[in-house]
Amino acid sequence: MHDHRKLGRELGLFDTDPLIGAGLPYWLPDGAIVRHTLEEYIRDAERRAGYRHVYSPVLGKRELYELSGHWSHYSEDMFPPMDLGGEQVVLRPSLCPHHALIYRSRAHSYRELPLRMAELGGMYRAELSGVLGGLTRVRAIHLNDAHIFCTFDQAADEARAALELIRRAYGALGIRPARYRLSLPGAGGKYVADPGMWQRATALLTGVLDGSGVVYEAAEGEAAFYGPKIDVQVADSAGREATLSTVQVDFHQPEQFDLRYVGPDGTGHRPVMIHRSIIGSVERAVAHLIERHGGALPAWLAPTQMVVLPISDAEVPQAADLVRRCVDHGIRAEIAGPEHGSLGARVRAARLVPYQAVIGAREAAADRVALRLRDGHRLDALHTAEVLTRIGALIGAHSTDLWDTDSRA
Ligand SMILES: [Zn+2]
Repeated sequence: MHDHRKLGRELGLFDTDPLIGAGLPYWLPDGAIVRHTLEEYIRDAERRAGYRHVYSPVLGKRELYELSGHWSHYSEDMFPPMDLGGEQVVLRPSLCPHHALIYRSRAHSYRELPLRMAELGGMYRAELSGVLGGLTRVRAIHLNDAHIFCTFDQAADEARAALELIRRAYGALGIRPARYRLSLPGAGGKYVADPGMWQRATALLTGVLDGSGVVYEAAEGEAAFYGPKIDVQVADSAGREATLSTVQVDFHQPEQFDLRYVGPDGTGHRPVMIHRSIIGSVERAVAHLIERHGGALPAWLAPTQMVVLPISDAEVPQAADLVRRCVDHGIRAEIAGPEHGSLGARVRAARLVPYQAVIGAREAAADRVALRLRDGHRLDALHTAEVLTRIGALIGAHSTDLWDTDSRA
């Protein structure tokens, strides 16, 4: 596999500057397109699955993290607090405390549960500069996060549904888990002390994993401080594993924040909190996508989806017209004219672009294009309208296929 740091810079997706600081990458225009497209895919998948999106600030008062337990269990990963007019504010290490407060701000009936609250938001981790690099170890993280507030009886179904969202997203992204891991607490004081809570949460996740039919391994010392989790592991170019997606069961923070819902009996009950992330942070997800695909991202994610190649200057007007029609069909297209070199050189320069549309005199006269696919296939000249419709449909369906194979023959 490729190193995403090298390839990401070559492709103009992201970069860093020592003056901004280690672990604080910025996204270049093509990288921003990839990120935006990925975020919109996730938000749409979540909307369809019944999630509601919120925004919350990246800062909070120190007391918030004392209450959530981060201060006593997680402070070595947190940025030092900032003194501000007699109080201390902290860059948040996770979104959960904010979401717990948003839940708590309104009264809830059991009829509203499961309440699925999602946010693709920023959080910060005080990584040491020695371990920083590219997009995989960063200090500013943008997490595809969600918290599901539900009854205990609903928790297993919600965890199962989250695993299914992860499975579908991996299909659209063309990535595969290295393995599933049931992450359990280990020795030491990193974990909240409540053996009964750990037992119930672990039994719940074990049941979900056993029922889902996936092969998994249990690993001690990998749980969150507040509860066990299912981690979906992926491998990087050096074979190192990292957690991309996760589903966690948490009885601790609902207790800490005194979260309640009114049950059918008219009295207050404690909800369970399920933390889940479909693709983890956008940083790590894009790093993995670059490495897994060697920069040849699925067509729906590619910064440029079609490059239009007029054979000579005479076809430049038709090529420019095709670019405009692509935009109308939601296809990101660019023209690479004869001033960029021979046709062969332009084809090679666009080797990572999913679709290359060649227009010569014959195609220009008949409103056709000769399509080359990134995988080397060349199609007979097709009507432009048909090409746009078929590519637009594949992109709209988040397909990893470059062409609908039935009709390729
Ligand atoms: Zn959380």
